[in-house]
Amino acid sequence: MQYDFVIIGGGIVGVSSAWQLQTQFPGKKVLLLEKESALAQHQTGHNSGVIHAGVYYTPGSLKAQFCQQGAIATVDFCKSNNIPFDQCGKLLVATDREEYHRMLALAERCEKNGIEHELLDSKALANLEPQISGVAAIHVPTSGIVDYRLVTEAIARQFVAAGGEIRLGHHVTGLFEDENHIRIDIKSQAGNLSFRTGYLVACAGLAADRIACLMKLPIDFRIIPFRGEYYRLAEGCENIVQHLIYPIPNTELPFLGVHLTPMIDGSITIGPNAVLGFKREGYDRYNFDLLDSWETLSFPGFWKLARQHWRSAKEEFKNAWKKVDYLQQVQKYCPQLEITDLEPYPAGIRAQAVMSDGTLVHDFLFAESPRSLHVCNAPSPAATSAIPIGNHICDLVKSKQASD
Ligand SMILES: Cc1cc2nc3c(=O)[nH]c(=O)nc-3n(C[C@H](O)[C@H](O)[C@H](O)COP(=O)(O)OP(=O)(O)OC[C@H]3O[C@@H](n4cnc5c(N)ncnc54)[C@H](O)[C@@H]3O)c2cc1C
Repeated sequence: MQYDFVIIGGGIVGVSSAWQLQTQFPGKKVLLLEKESALAQHQTGHNSGVIHAGVYYTPGSLKAQFCQQGAIATVDFCKSNNIPFDQCGKLLVATDREEYHRMLALAERCEKNGIEHELLDSKALANLEPQISGVAAIHVPTSGIVDYRLVTEAIARQFVAAGGEIRLGHHVTGLFEDENHIRIDIKSQAGNLSFRTGYLVACAGLAADRIACLMKLPIDFRIIPFRGEYYRLAEGCENIVQHLIYPIPNTELPFLGVHLTPMIDGSITIGPNAVLGFKREGYDRYNFDLLDSWETLSFPGFWKLARQHWRSAKEEFKNAWKKVDYLQQVQKYCPQLEITDLEPYPAGIRAQAVMSDGTLVHDFLFAESPRSLHVCNAPSPAATSAIPIGNHICDLVKSKQASD
């Protein structure tokens, strides 16, 4: 029960980190712990499946850097592992003058981030997507789609082939660090267990703050769950668009707006919105958990955030509960869609770190102790970026070892 590296979390970030630690430290004992009975059961298995090109992100940020490297690495990984993907391209559609100006600012950001793109007028947009209407659009040809569960499972197979070990159904309940190692307490079907590791990497998504608290790290953030609700277009609408169709987002928020997403299985989803969740891992609309809700509502940062963004929060709640209002967001750029075209589809839940001063954390956030490294915020596009994030984590672990 003694390991060199233990990784908590069987989402794409944890699995990628485990794989790269095992390949960069051959011969070391590497263990991945996941509390569910399968990998990719939370954010990684409940997302839009988009391989983002990196349009939106602040030039020079980790998000921008990881996304661009990750888009290339994901496509390469899919090619060499026979995982279906499609670089179908993406259109960011402006529907009025105000959006047009924000679109130009995004085009400038594409330029600064070195993202291949072209500006389309309304005629060129209609030629490319006859069912989409707008005053102008940005076309990003390299954006794509994939199933991130398949990518995660393939990375996990490579990790195991390289000598790594995965234990599913192992819920980490305690972490105790001393000078030489970390003791990890676990609840599993086999009973309570204890492992020891030289180094720990935590990639716990919706539980990132709780794992950091188990380690007694002095954190200044909490994870606030934001539900992302989707619909699927009814049969017969599958050919309505060929590209990913996105609105022009509010750049103050780390959410991209309700978009039309061709999925790799041939269906098309609409969504996701972004509404406060009352259960961190509750995918049903009516799910409620007292502890999860108390943790959110007793956190001062949540109320500061709510004060800043109450207008958009109110709008999101209204659109979530009234299907017709939800639809109107999409009708702005795809007017012929009707209420009967929208069928139910499972929601996803974002793990969004919020600081105690109410700031929404847009970039990746890490915390550490002498023998542990915690990924505290891995927002979208962390699925796209998982391969470079895993590599970055290996570099951080190496520099920790060097100073040991
Ligand atoms: C609605 C939605 C749409 C998105 N769309 C996209 C997109 O199109 N493209 C993109 O690139 N990104 C997208 N993202 C973001 C992306 O899905 C996430 O950033 C990424 O999956 C994060 O991966 P992760 O491994 O950090 O977290 P997760 O996938 O959530 O994995 C964390 C894992 O840790 C485990 N865990 C937690 N606590 C414990 C414990 N105590 N013991 C053991 N295990 C534990 C959990 O069970 C879970 O499996 C989207 C996210 C959402 C929610």
